[in-house]
Amino acid sequence: MNRFIVVGAGPAGLSLALQLARAGQAVTLIEAAEGHQFSRAFRGDALMPCGLEALARMGLWPLLEALPHRPLEGWSVWVERRRLFAVPEPMGSLQPCRLVPQADLLEALLQEAIRHPSLCWMPSTRVRGLAREDHPHGLGRVRGVDLGDGRTLEADLVVACDGRQSQLRQRAGLPMTCSGQGLELLWFTLPATAGIGPEQPDPAVPGFMTLLAGGAIGSACRGARGELQLAWLLHQGDTSLRRSHTEWAERLAQLAPEPLAQRLRQGTDQLSEPMRVSVQVGLAPRWCCPGLLLLGDAAHPMSPVRAQGINMALRDSLVAAGELLAASGPAELDAAAGRVQRKRLPEIQRMQALQSAEARQGALLGRTALLRSAAAGMAPLAGPLAQALWTRRQRPLREGLAGAI
Ligand SMILES: Cc1cc2nc3c(=O)[nH]c(=O)nc-3n(C[C@H](O)[C@H](O)[C@H](O)COP(=O)(O)OP(=O)(O)OC[C@H]3O[C@@H](n4cnc5c(N)ncnc54)[C@H](O)[C@@H]3O)c2cc1C
Repeated sequence: MNRFIVVGAGPAGLSLALQLARAGQAVTLIEAAEGHQFSRAFRGDALMPCGLEALARMGLWPLLEALPHRPLEGWSVWVERRRLFAVPEPMGSLQPCRLVPQADLLEALLQEAIRHPSLCWMPSTRVRGLAREDHPHGLGRVRGVDLGDGRTLEADLVVACDGRQSQLRQRAGLPMTCSGQGLELLWFTLPATAGIGPEQPDPAVPGFMTLLAGGAIGSACRGARGELQLAWLLHQGDTSLRRSHTEWAERLAQLAPEPLAQRLRQGTDQLSEPMRVSVQVGLAPRWCCPGLLLLGDAAHPMSPVRAQGINMALRDSLVAAGELLAASGPAELDAAAGRVQRKRLPEIQRMQALQSAEARQGALLGRTALLRSAAAGMAPLAGPLAQALWTRRQRPLREGLAGAI
């Protein structure tokens, strides 16, 4: 039996810890968040068919079915409040993109994981650094982690699932290659419309809407519980944070077609405070060093474009569990960690390239007035062409690469 330490109880860490503990391995799962309050951090709701497939392969389909969820209706792009195109789910996949409250999914994974006696759950505990074996010439193998309270925990392998700002990646000296400028979003929510249940269609919000108008870019979508989730992309050096509630509701309404615009103006009082989310996309050229493996956003922080991060984290953990469970002892675990990176890298590189192509095209259209007015003015002609180009890119973003897990 190997001893594992998994740092971070996000989708990557929880699903990996569960699979390892279920197989009887000794796993210590450490999470910094106070009292494991999953709902405090911002989490997206969208699970793509490729993420659903990973959960099914982990044998977790019944767990997923028991959670509140609803299928996404479809995707649409709106330019100057005119519809450029709309594509209904499931877009040729076996099942539609599914909206599941992330806090509920993580809590259910945790409850399933702690049923296994070989799992030791340590919430409200911050990992401060890596403990290493002594080595006469440089850095020794990672042998465990140092906790904030001064204790050191030992393991045969440490798996860092500590998210996009991964401290363990930095402590290990594993570099991160950042792509592009990164982006900053403001995130708002508005309660579900009275009288429309989450399972009922809402004509004002027909699925995930990308909104481009007047040089601004945003999105609107109903979450798993029917609440409206709104994003506003900030420009570089934007000072627009300093706005009143009413101004924000009006700015969002100016992006949106009717009847959504009216809903936003009427719901001004219920609009949440804006939450600022910074996103830097990147990829670590090396995901492992002796005694340590990085997974999920710690190895490859994903863009929020077309909801990939949770899905890729789950697919990483499925592959990692398969490799790590077949290994015994430090040398085999290090070799297995190398195989995890080799197996997962092609899919991650492809997904990040597709996400960045989509973001570039959105930014070009969103920021170029001439293009927007041409697209909006000729929507009946331009729409089908834009739809064909867009749809071609969606298959791998939804289904992942064949044979990747
Ligand atoms: C605006 C936005 C919207 C998104 N929407 C979606 C979506 O709809 N669908 C989707 O698939 N993806 C979405 N994503 C991406 C997704 O949230 C991430 O890619 C995903 O959560 C990564 O999972 P993870 O397990 O690797 O890391 P995280 O979910 O980031 O989990 C890391 C965990 O590690 C813990 N931790 C960190 N440091 C320490 C430490 N030192 N000690 C102990 N614990 C520590 C943290 O508290 C955290 O719980 C979105 C991202 C953004 C920014």
